[in-house]
Amino acid sequence: MAVPQNKVTKSRRNMRRAHDALVAANPNECANCGELKRPHHVCGACGHYDDREVVAATNEVDLDEDAA
Ligand SMILES: [Zn+2]
Repeated sequence: MAVPQNKVTKSRRNMRRAHDALVAANPNECANCGELKRPHHVCGACGHYDDREVVAATNEVDLDEDAA
């Protein structure tokens, strides 16, 4: 098993972790429905992108169609 040759000090460990912070998301408002959405992504609420509907919005998905 590989073993570290030298102890990583608290200082060096913390310096390494200085870049590990998560950054907050930066949502935009959907131009169509006003819902917050990720930039450069299709709106999850209405399926629009760049003022066009690119994904058909479905209100409900019926999962019980496997009776056949
Ligand atoms: Zn939308």
